[in-house]
Amino acid sequence: MDYEKIFLQITDEINTAGNPGQVASYIPELSRVDANRFGIHLTTLKGRSYCYGDANEKFSIQSIAKVLALTLAFNLEDNKLWERVGVEPSGTSFNSLLQLEYEKGIPRNPLINAGALVICDVLVSRLKNPRQELIDFIRDLAGDQSIDYCPRVARSEKITGYKNAALINLIKSYGNIHNDIDTVFNLYCDLCSIEMTCQELSQAFLFLAAGGINPLNNKRVISVSKSKRTNAIMQLCGFYDEAGEFSFEVGLPGKSGVGGGIVALLPGQYSIAVWSPRLNAKGNSYRGMKVLELFTTKTEASIF
Ligand code: GLU
Repeated sequence: MDYEKIFLQITDEINTAGNPGQVASYIPELSRVDANRFGIHLTTLKGRSYCYGDANEKFSIQSIAKVLALTLAFNLEDNKLWERVGVEPSGTSFNSLLQLEYEKGIPRNPLINAGALVICDVLVSRLKNPRQELIDFIRDLAGDQSIDYCPRVARSEKITGYKNAALINLIKSYGNIHNDIDTVFNLYCDLCSIEMTCQELSQAFLFLAAGGINPLNNKRVISVSKSKRTNAIMQLCGFYDEAGEFSFEVGLPGKSGVGGGIVALLPGQYSIAVWSPRLNAKGNSYRGMKVLELFTTKTEASIF
């Protein structure tokens, strides 16, 4: 299929539709991005690449990184992980405190902030140097050693992340954070600050389209079963309280971040990353959602 031709058709359509979203500003450092940036990159399991626009520019991947932290923690803990974090969609915003109190410190899923904080706690417990091992893991997935944390963004999150600080304290009060709060919180802020390009992201997520094997080096990243479960979690929980809308419009497992990135994948076929920093009211990239909806409509391929 000529994906680049489809990208051109899609961008013609969305250019006439406007881009009414807002760049995330609650993390001050994120508001410095150029709101009109726009990139797409698709990588197939056969190793072919198709791109459009600013596909090779680094941006803050934010919550997209939570899927990769989950992958690492799932490998370390196996199914014991699910004693500490659920697999249900939250139906609330990504940093909500409400549910957490009702559910006694067990976050609904690993992709909301509360769940990712517990995942970071697992990494702190299980790894000798979690910060280094996490970034090494992501570099290997993407086949790119330049991928790194952004100290400016991480710092911005640390000093303004009042809600995340409340979340981690609440979880700790229920005994579901085992390590020192500052250590876990720092790892969480570093995780969210990782910068990648659309090209690197689509490569890094390809193992989830390939039953857990990274086609770049034929190394098994996770088992077939864990790959299935991770995709299921993305499908149900990857878009804040808009996961139903994304499933309905796009029909692929995926994950978004408040930096304006979205990654989605079609098992057996490809992984695609889109970046456009203006967000809709639910915190998902306005254009990213539109692009992917048009993409699966035009290619007539989704998981459904
Ligand atoms: N670092 C962001 C936060 O914790 C992540 C938000 C996101 O991309 O969902 O608020």
